[in-house]
Amino acid sequence: MRQKTAPKEKILTEFNCCWPIFSAKHPSVTCPNVEVSLLPPDIGGRTASNGKITINVTIGNQSTEVIRHVIFHELCHLIHLNHSREFYDALDELDPLHRKRNGAYLEKRLQNLENLTETINIQ
Ligand SMILES: [Zn+2]
Repeated sequence: MRQKTAPKEKILTEFNCCWPIFSAKHPSVTCPNVEVSLLPPDIGGRTASNGKITINVTIGNQSTEVIRHVIFHELCHLIHLNHSREFYDALDELDPLHRKRNGAYLEKRLQNLENLTETINIQ
């Protein structure tokens, strides 16, 4: 019997791929604490104002690019705690899902991601 990689493990592995990419562009940002836990189904992740990132364990079942999209989204909140133009500009530089595709496929994915993506948890 083949075992699937546990969702939590998969998310943390992807984080370890995303962090160096983010860090290269934003070297002054300290590597955040990352927790994978069960969040409400409409939330992909959240970033607290103290810099702690929580990723919803349920996205571990999504494709790698969706997982990375959520991780990059949360990482960008370390520099912009909002969804400003500057936030999306930073995300565009990191996330291939965000700008490099077009057409119905992307639109549909982004719609789904809209549902996946969180509200910011100011503590
Ligand atoms: Zn956000």
